[in-house]
Amino acid sequence: MLAFRKFKTAFIPDKYKQKGILHTETKNRKQLSSERVLSHSIEIRDSGCKISHCKLNHSKLKTLNDLKSFFTTQLDKKTVMTLNWQTQLSHAFTDVQTLCLYLNLSIDNLNLSTESIKKFPLLVPLAFAERIEKGNPSDPLLRQILPIADELKNYTGFSDDPVGDLNSVKQTGLLHKYHGRVLLINTGACAIHCRYCFRRNFPYADLQLNKQQENDVLQTIQNDESIQEVILSGGDPLILNDARLARLFAGLEAIPTLKRIRIHTRLPIVLPDRITDEFLMLVKNSTKKIVIVVHCNHANEIDDYVALACERLKSAGVTLLNQSVLLFGVNDNLEALSDLSKRLFEIDVLPYYLHFLDKANGTGHFQVSKEEALALLTALQNRLSGYLVPKLVTEQAGELAKQLVF
Ligand code: SF4
Repeated sequence: MLAFRKFKTAFIPDKYKQKGILHTETKNRKQLSSERVLSHSIEIRDSGCKISHCKLNHSKLKTLNDLKSFFTTQLDKKTVMTLNWQTQLSHAFTDVQTLCLYLNLSIDNLNLSTESIKKFPLLVPLAFAERIEKGNPSDPLLRQILPIADELKNYTGFSDDPVGDLNSVKQTGLLHKYHGRVLLINTGACAIHCRYCFRRNFPYADLQLNKQQENDVLQTIQNDESIQEVILSGGDPLILNDARLARLFAGLEAIPTLKRIRIHTRLPIVLPDRITDEFLMLVKNSTKKIVIVVHCNHANEIDDYVALACERLKSAGVTLLNQSVLLFGVNDNLEALSDLSKRLFEIDVLPYYLHFLDKANGTGHFQVSKEEALALLTALQNRLSGYLVPKLVTEQAGELAKQLVF
């Protein structure tokens, strides 16, 4: 049962209202901090009629760790989803033992590695962990976030910067690779750590933007009339709060030659509450065309909350595309790819790109051979309508565009 309480009516499709999603005001929970969680009972309203209460046991919850433990062992998704997205994120799993406890997994059988965690820490919000099948060590979502010893193996042709991002840096926070488009990176933070990420070894700390640097980047874009599209990337640009995004949007809106703002983000998938009313108003009121490219690799990542987030974006006028990565043990079979495309289309997202794995150190165990990939895409094309078959692409450092494999 869905239990959103924070959205105003404007962006909630009727079918969700019929499912029982309410549009009560956010006044008591918008600013909900950990401390306030400790001192308030949380009201859950479902079906539009029944009200139940989840009382937190104040006497036992003394520290933040107590709270984390409580979140991961006792609160269900319905309750957690009544908290704002930043509070949810602050209680994401960062400890592999707690995660395994939550998922009913024996830590001994997972080939985990503390060295892998040191190189790229574990980070998984509860909203995503909820979709992992409990007790299943081979779950396709689990494989995407579990730090295993295979990450320490060396594979030929793998490096820390497989797509040549560092050579494309024009100034702090600005990458220019392709004609007419620039990549604006103003955060290295994400809501989840995907083990296959091609930027897992990227030196983000050197590219963080302060206000002056952001102004400098905007000036560079303004000075180059060939730039018609800005791609907000990271990290995950939606990790920035709405006020920070509003400032950035205001700067972009003021550049007349700019036509499109594209946002590459995994947040609508991993933490769908990030799609706030404030963010929707920002994109709805923009004078530029807004394209959001979400990142989803498996149909199991799409639950009703994700569906609602995407439909709210759609109703705010956003063009929605998906990019996924072809990953061994996650989506390297016909059923998984077919289900993903069909499920995406059901929630108004067009399957756009399927990326061949970028060869970043630590990700070699996710590799699928080119022959297998081509066979899979041929089978997919024979099964689905053309618009449901994503383009299989690969990115090579120094090339002027992504290379079409299929
Ligand atoms: S959200 Fe995107 S940038 Fe962040 S770790 Fe996952 S794939 Fe990498």
